Amino acid sequence: MAWWDRERYWHLVRPDAVEAIHNETFRSALRWYYSVLLEGYPAKFVIARSIPVEADISRASLEELWDLHRALAREFESRWREVREEGTRYSEFVQRYGSASPSFVTLKAEIARRIIRRCCFCERRCGVDRASGAIGACRVDGRTYVHSWFLHLGEEAPLVPSGTIFYGGCNFACVYCQNWDISQVSPREGAVVDARRLALIQKELASRGARNINHVGGDPIPNTHTVLESLEYLDVNIAQLWNSNFYMTPETMELLIHVMDIWLPDFKYGNDECAKRLSGVDRYVETVVRNLRVATEWGDMIIRHLVLPNHVECCTKPVLKMIADNLPRDRVLVNIMDQYRPEHRAYSYRDIARRPRPRELEEAYSYADSLGLLWRDISR
Ligand code: SF4
Repeated sequence: MAWWDRERYWHLVRPDAVEAIHNETFRSALRWYYSVLLEGYPAKFVIARSIPVEADISRASLEELWDLHRALAREFESRWREVREEGTRYSEFVQRYGSASPSFVTLKAEIARRIIRRCCFCERRCGVDRASGAIGACRVDGRTYVHSWFLHLGEEAPLVPSGTIFYGGCNFACVYCQNWDISQVSPREGAVVDARRLALIQKELASRGARNINHVGGDPIPNTHTVLESLEYLDVNIAQLWNSNFYMTPETMELLIHVMDIWLPDFKYGNDECAKRLSGVDRYVETVVRNLRVATEWGDMIIRHLVLPNHVECCTKPVLKMIADNLPRDRVLVNIMDQYRPEHRAYSYRDIARRPRPRELEEAYSYADSLGLLWRDISR
């Protein structure tokens, strides 16, 4: 089936995605996402954009911008609560509050633009001036490179069809990366896209039937500034999804929590040694757990864990245990992924140079069961 037919007949390609709308576990765990998707509640960026900024932010220092951000965050919380309690629909909300310019979203984009001058979007904290063309560990400068965008039919059932945008560059260096071309080898060969163009791409995806806008890569983290600015121009109501390795700094989390409706984090490793050896990052566990805790307070979540061969004891089990111990089990869906295959440089690492065995997957599933995690239906 050609891609345009697949898009048109997505319900035939993924009948489970049609069924997902009626799945009580999904409806309950992803309550906010479904409120935007099915009930027509305003997505969080619409609420954030309704809050005016009454200051000249171009002249303010970064410290002053953060002070203002903290003040407006309180107003956001109040309006978001009101929407959920009153069941306010998008058109009613816009009629009541309108869309401000400059707004809380403008302020976020301004802070993000300042941050890339000494980049600390992720815990690598390179400190390079990406606005002047310097390249960080993520292999991209301050421009945003989009490699492709389309309706993704391979994501988790509640998300399909997912309006997915693949950005170049990644702050990780996974030796087994499945998207190694855009993340590590040729990240700057995509189309350079500014915020207005990115908003148009999102609008086009929405018009083709996307249930959400799925920011992925590579990783979206190095592109936080463009994503935030695009939300100033986006004039359709659609849920925003952050599909990431979750290695953001607290500053980046602070910018994202008021505009992302659903989180799709990869929780890869159960210890820092495996993270360092296979992805080249430090302080992995504390960073990801910290961000997961924050994100569960600010939207719905499906956590992905890719089962690596020979890593069930050191990674899969500790990851599942940390989810059970640190996050609300009734609100977090866990996708235990079985599709690992050696790619990129994986054949140089003996432990991960094969696919996981059925016995390893079964062990992961039964351990998730023993912890009471919500993983059935969502894992394929
Ligand atoms: S996004 Fe992360 S890896 Fe990239 S320059 Fe910024 S701090 Fe470095």
